Amino acid sequence: MKLTNISVIKDLISRHGFTFSKSLGQNFLINPSVCPRMSEGLSGTVIEIGAGIGVLTQELSKVAERVIVIELDESLKPILKETLFDCDNVEIIWGDAVEVINQKLVHEPVTVVANLPYYAATHIIMQLLERRRYLLIKSIIVMVQEEVAQRFIALPRSKQYGIVSVAARFYGQPKLLFKVSRGSFMPTPNVESAVIRLDVFQENRYDLNEKEFFRLVKAAFSERRKQLCNPVSREFNIDKEVVKAALTAIGKTPAARAEELSVDEFVKLSGRLNLSN
Ligand code: SAM
Repeated sequence: MKLTNISVIKDLISRHGFTFSKSLGQNFLINPSVCPRMSEGLSGTVIEIGAGIGVLTQELSKVAERVIVIELDESLKPILKETLFDCDNVEIIWGDAVEVINQKLVHEPVTVVANLPYYAATHIIMQLLERRRYLLIKSIIVMVQEEVAQRFIALPRSKQYGIVSVAARFYGQPKLLFKVSRGSFMPTPNVESAVIRLDVFQENRYDLNEKEFFRLVKAAFSERRKQLCNPVSREFNIDKEVVKAALTAIGKTPAARAEELSVDEFVKLSGRLNLSN
Protein backbone atom coordinates (compact mmCIF):
# COMPACT_ATOMS: atom_id res chain seq x y z
CA MET A 1 0.00 0.00 0.00
CA LYS A 2 1.61 3.25 -1.15
CA LEU A 3 0.92 5.68 1.66
CA THR A 4 2.19 8.73 -0.21
CA ASN A 5 -0.46 8.23 -2.88
CA ILE A 6 -3.30 10.73 -2.44
CA SER A 7 -6.01 8.31 -3.68
CA VAL A 8 -4.79 5.65 -1.24
CA ILE A 9 -4.86 8.16 1.63
CA LYS A 10 -8.33 9.42 0.69
CA ASP A 11 -9.65 5.86 0.49
CA LEU A 12 -8.09 4.94 3.86
CA ILE A 13 -9.41 7.94 5.74
CA SER A 14 -12.89 7.75 4.24
CA ARG A 15 -13.23 4.00 4.95
CA HIS A 16 -12.18 4.59 8.58
CA GLY A 17 -14.09 7.87 9.00
CA PHE A 18 -10.90 9.70 9.96
CA THR A 19 -10.75 13.51 9.99
CA PHE A 20 -7.53 15.53 10.16
CA SER A 21 -6.95 17.39 13.41
CA LYS A 22 -5.34 20.78 12.89
CA SER A 23 -4.66 21.16 16.61
CA LEU A 24 -2.63 17.90 16.60
CA GLY A 25 -0.53 19.16 13.67
CA GLN A 26 -1.73 16.42 11.35
CA ASN A 27 -0.02 17.14 8.04
CA PHE A 28 0.85 13.78 6.53
CA LEU A 29 3.75 13.25 4.13
CA ILE A 30 2.83 12.65 0.48
CA ASN A 31 6.26 13.29 -1.06
CA PRO A 32 7.66 9.78 -1.71
CA SER A 33 11.30 10.83 -1.47
CA VAL A 34 11.18 12.25 2.06
CA CYS A 35 10.74 9.12 4.25
CA PRO A 36 13.56 7.15 2.56
CA ARG A 37 15.85 10.18 2.99
CA MET A 38 14.96 10.49 6.68
CA SER A 39 15.58 6.76 7.24
CA GLU A 40 18.81 6.51 5.24
CA GLY A 41 21.60 4.66 7.05
CA LEU A 42 19.51 3.88 10.13
CA SER A 43 19.70 0.59 11.98
CA GLY A 44 19.08 -0.70 15.51
CA THR A 45 16.23 0.69 17.59
CA VAL A 46 14.27 3.73 16.52
CA ILE A 47 11.65 5.75 18.39
CA GLU A 48 9.17 7.55 16.15
CA ILE A 49 6.93 10.32 17.48
CA GLY A 50 3.58 10.72 15.69
CA ALA A 51 2.76 7.89 13.29
CA GLY A 52 -0.07 9.51 11.35
CA ILE A 53 -1.15 6.83 8.89
CA GLY A 54 2.26 5.15 9.16
CA VAL A 55 4.07 6.42 6.08
CA LEU A 56 7.38 7.05 7.88
CA THR A 57 6.80 4.09 10.21
CA GLN A 58 6.69 1.69 7.22
CA GLU A 59 10.00 3.02 5.95
CA LEU A 60 11.61 2.84 9.40
CA SER A 61 10.34 -0.70 9.80
CA LYS A 62 12.29 -1.71 6.67
CA VAL A 63 15.65 -0.42 7.92
CA ALA A 64 15.51 -0.65 11.73
CA GLU A 65 15.50 -3.75 13.90
CA ARG A 66 12.84 -2.36 16.20
CA VAL A 67 10.53 0.65 15.92
CA ILE A 68 8.66 2.11 18.88
CA VAL A 69 6.04 4.63 17.83
CA ILE A 70 4.34 7.09 20.15
CA GLU A 71 1.02 8.43 18.82
CA LEU A 72 -1.50 10.57 20.68
CA ASP A 73 -4.54 10.29 18.40
CA GLU A 74 -6.29 6.98 19.07
CA SER A 75 -8.67 7.55 16.16
CA LEU A 76 -5.71 6.43 13.99
CA LYS A 77 -5.82 2.95 15.56
CA PRO A 78 -7.87 1.17 12.85
CA ILE A 79 -5.87 2.82 10.06
CA LEU A 80 -2.51 1.83 11.57
CA LYS A 81 -3.78 -1.68 12.20
CA GLU A 82 -4.31 -1.93 8.45
CA THR A 83 -1.21 -0.08 7.19
CA LEU A 84 1.28 -1.67 9.61
CA PHE A 85 -0.21 -5.17 9.63
CA ASP A 86 2.94 -6.80 8.27
CA CYS A 87 5.45 -4.65 10.17
CA ASP A 88 6.30 -7.14 12.92
CA ASN A 89 9.06 -5.02 14.40
CA VAL A 90 6.75 -2.05 15.14
CA GLU A 91 5.21 -1.46 18.54
CA ILE A 92 2.80 1.44 19.16
CA ILE A 93 2.50 3.29 22.45
CA TRP A 94 -0.66 5.41 22.63
CA GLY A 95 -0.20 8.65 24.50
CA ASP A 96 1.32 12.09 24.59
CA ALA A 97 5.01 11.92 23.62
CA VAL A 98 5.90 14.50 26.26
CA GLU A 99 4.59 12.12 28.94
CA VAL A 100 5.62 8.83 27.35
CA ILE A 101 9.28 9.87 27.16
CA ASN A 102 9.32 9.98 30.95
CA GLN A 103 9.17 6.17 30.84
CA LYS A 104 12.17 3.95 30.33
CA LEU A 105 11.31 2.81 26.81
CA VAL A 106 14.48 0.97 25.85
CA HIS A 107 17.71 -0.41 27.25
CA GLU A 108 19.76 0.08 24.10
CA PRO A 109 20.92 3.24 22.26
CA VAL A 110 18.22 4.73 20.04
CA THR A 111 17.67 7.20 17.26
CA VAL A 112 14.54 9.34 17.45
CA VAL A 113 12.95 10.01 14.07
CA ALA A 114 9.83 12.08 13.53
CA ASN A 115 7.81 14.39 11.40
CA LEU A 116 6.88 16.43 14.45
CA PRO A 117 3.57 18.25 14.91
CA TYR A 118 4.41 21.96 14.48
CA TYR A 119 2.64 23.06 17.66
CA ALA A 120 4.88 20.98 19.94
CA ALA A 121 8.09 20.49 17.94
CA THR A 122 10.46 22.73 19.93
CA HIS A 123 9.10 21.53 23.26
CA ILE A 124 9.42 17.85 22.29
CA ILE A 125 13.01 18.29 21.03
CA MET A 126 14.02 20.15 24.20
CA GLN A 127 12.45 17.40 26.35
CA LEU A 128 14.30 14.75 24.36
CA LEU A 129 17.59 16.60 24.84
CA GLU A 130 17.03 16.97 28.57
CA ARG A 131 16.21 13.27 28.84
CA ARG A 132 18.86 12.09 26.37
CA ARG A 133 20.79 9.99 28.90
CA TYR A 134 17.75 8.28 30.40
CA LEU A 135 16.35 7.54 26.93
CA LEU A 136 19.81 6.54 25.58
CA ILE A 137 19.45 8.85 22.57
CA LYS A 138 22.26 8.82 19.98
CA SER A 139 20.66 11.04 17.38
CA ILE A 140 17.48 12.95 16.70
CA ILE A 141 16.32 13.27 13.08
CA VAL A 142 13.24 15.44 12.87
CA MET A 143 11.14 17.34 10.40
CA VAL A 144 10.07 20.71 11.77
CA GLN A 145 8.90 24.05 10.46
CA GLU A 146 11.84 25.61 8.56
CA GLU A 147 11.94 28.59 10.90
CA VAL A 148 12.34 26.23 13.88
CA ALA A 149 15.06 24.28 12.05
CA GLN A 150 16.97 27.54 11.47
CA ARG A 151 16.81 28.29 15.20
CA PHE A 152 18.28 24.90 16.11
CA ILE A 153 21.23 25.27 13.74
CA ALA A 154 21.80 29.03 14.23
CA LEU A 155 25.21 30.43 15.14
CA PRO A 156 25.97 33.46 17.35
CA ARG A 157 25.26 36.92 15.91
CA SER A 158 22.48 35.65 13.67
CA LYS A 159 18.84 36.72 13.97
CA GLN A 160 17.71 33.17 14.74
CA TYR A 161 20.29 32.49 17.47
CA GLY A 162 18.63 31.94 20.83
CA ILE A 163 18.06 29.52 23.71
CA VAL A 164 17.37 26.50 21.47
CA SER A 165 20.52 27.17 19.43
CA VAL A 166 22.57 27.18 22.63
CA ALA A 167 20.82 24.00 23.83
CA ALA A 168 21.42 22.21 20.51
CA ARG A 169 25.18 22.90 20.65
CA PHE A 170 25.37 22.28 24.39
CA TYR A 171 23.92 18.77 23.99
CA GLY A 172 25.14 17.84 20.53
CA GLN A 173 25.95 18.68 16.94
CA PRO A 174 23.01 20.09 14.94
CA LYS A 175 22.87 19.96 11.14
CA LEU A 176 20.30 20.88 8.49
CA LEU A 177 19.75 17.80 6.31
CA PHE A 178 17.29 19.09 3.69
CA LYS A 179 14.33 21.39 3.14
CA VAL A 180 10.83 20.12 2.41
CA SER A 181 8.27 22.18 0.50
CA ARG A 182 4.73 22.66 1.81
CA GLY A 183 3.39 20.72 -1.20
CA SER A 184 4.90 17.57 0.31
CA PHE A 185 2.06 17.27 2.84
CA MET A 186 -1.64 16.59 3.00
CA PRO A 187 -3.32 18.82 4.01
CA THR A 188 -0.92 21.53 2.83
CA PRO A 189 0.51 23.54 5.73
CA ASN A 190 1.08 27.32 5.61
CA VAL A 191 4.81 27.00 6.19
CA GLU A 192 7.89 25.37 4.71
CA SER A 193 9.60 22.53 6.57
CA ALA A 194 13.10 21.15 7.00
CA VAL A 195 14.71 18.03 8.39
CA ILE A 196 17.44 18.50 10.97
CA ARG A 197 19.76 16.00 12.54
CA LEU A 198 21.16 16.37 16.03
CA ASP A 199 23.92 13.98 16.99
CA VAL A 200 23.91 13.88 20.76
CA PHE A 201 27.22 14.01 22.65
CA GLN A 202 27.65 10.70 24.46
CA GLU A 203 29.99 12.18 27.08
CA ASN A 204 29.21 15.31 29.12
CA ARG A 205 31.18 18.09 27.43
CA TYR A 206 30.76 20.52 30.30
CA ASP A 207 30.99 19.77 33.99
CA LEU A 208 28.31 22.04 35.40
CA ASN A 209 24.79 22.26 36.81
CA GLU A 210 22.61 22.28 33.67
CA LYS A 211 19.59 23.79 35.37
CA GLU A 212 21.55 26.81 36.59
CA PHE A 213 23.38 27.08 33.28
CA PHE A 214 20.12 27.34 31.34
CA ARG A 215 18.78 29.77 33.94
CA LEU A 216 21.69 32.02 32.92
CA VAL A 217 21.08 31.51 29.19
CA LYS A 218 17.35 32.21 29.56
CA ALA A 219 17.97 35.34 31.62
CA ALA A 220 20.51 36.58 29.07
CA PHE A 221 18.11 36.07 26.14
CA SER A 222 15.13 37.56 27.98
CA GLU A 223 16.32 40.94 26.65
CA ARG A 224 18.20 39.76 23.59
CA ARG A 225 18.74 43.17 22.02
CA LYS A 226 20.05 44.74 25.22
CA GLN A 227 23.19 44.31 27.31
CA LEU A 228 22.97 40.95 29.06
CA CYS A 229 24.50 42.29 32.29
CA ASN A 230 21.11 43.81 33.25
CA PRO A 231 18.79 40.76 33.18
CA VAL A 232 21.57 38.46 34.46
CA SER A 233 22.35 40.67 37.45
CA ARG A 234 18.63 40.84 38.28
CA GLU A 235 18.02 37.08 37.88
CA PHE A 236 20.94 36.09 40.12
CA ASN A 237 20.92 39.13 42.37
CA ILE A 238 24.53 40.00 41.54
CA ASP A 239 25.93 43.48 41.08
CA LYS A 240 25.89 44.55 37.43
CA GLU A 241 29.56 45.55 37.62
CA VAL A 242 30.45 41.98 38.62
CA VAL A 243 28.73 40.64 35.48
CA LYS A 244 30.53 43.24 33.35
CA ALA A 245 33.87 42.26 34.89
CA ALA A 246 33.14 38.57 34.21
CA LEU A 247 32.35 39.40 30.58
CA THR A 248 35.63 41.29 30.24
CA ALA A 249 37.51 38.39 31.84
CA ILE A 250 36.18 35.98 29.21
CA GLY A 251 37.22 38.32 26.40
CA LYS A 252 33.85 39.96 25.66
CA THR A 253 32.88 43.59 25.91
CA PRO A 254 31.03 44.54 29.14
CA ALA A 255 28.15 45.68 26.90
CA ALA A 256 27.81 42.25 25.23
CA ARG A 257 24.37 40.99 24.25
CA ALA A 258 23.27 37.36 24.59
CA GLU A 259 23.30 36.78 20.83
CA GLU A 260 27.07 37.49 20.76
CA LEU A 261 28.00 34.61 23.08
CA SER A 262 28.77 31.09 21.89
CA VAL A 263 27.96 28.06 24.05
CA ASP A 264 31.60 27.94 25.23
CA GLU A 265 31.45 31.60 26.20
CA PHE A 266 28.20 31.09 28.14
CA VAL A 267 29.92 28.19 29.93
CA LYS A 268 32.92 30.40 30.75
CA LEU A 269 30.66 33.20 31.94
CA SER A 270 28.73 30.88 34.21
CA GLY A 271 32.04 29.61 35.63
CA ARG A 272 33.33 33.15 36.24
CA LEU A 273 30.11 34.02 38.05
CA ASN A 274 30.15 30.71 40.00
CA LEU A 275 26.60 30.11 38.84
CA SER A 276 26.43 26.49 37.80
CA ASN A 277 28.92 24.54 39.85
N1 SAM B 1 4.56 10.59 10.65
C1 SAM B 1 3.38 10.98 9.93
C2 SAM B 1 3.76 11.55 8.59
O1 SAM B 1 4.92 11.91 8.42
O2 SAM B 1 2.90 11.64 7.71
C3 SAM B 1 2.53 11.98 10.72
C4 SAM B 1 3.20 13.30 11.01
S1 SAM B 1 2.09 14.54 11.60
C5 SAM B 1 3.00 16.00 11.19
C6 SAM B 1 2.28 14.53 13.36
C7 SAM B 1 1.70 13.32 14.08
O3 SAM B 1 1.95 13.48 15.49
C8 SAM B 1 0.20 13.15 13.97
O4 SAM B 1 -0.10 11.81 13.69
C9 SAM B 1 -0.37 13.55 15.35
O5 SAM B 1 -1.55 12.88 15.69
C10 SAM B 1 0.79 13.15 16.24
N2 SAM B 1 0.87 13.91 17.50
C11 SAM B 1 0.50 15.19 17.73
N3 SAM B 1 0.78 15.53 18.98
C12 SAM B 1 1.38 14.48 19.57
C13 SAM B 1 1.89 14.23 20.88
N4 SAM B 1 1.89 15.17 21.81
N5 SAM B 1 2.40 12.99 21.14
C14 SAM B 1 2.42 12.02 20.18
N6 SAM B 1 1.95 12.20 18.93
C15 SAM B 1 1.43 13.41 18.63
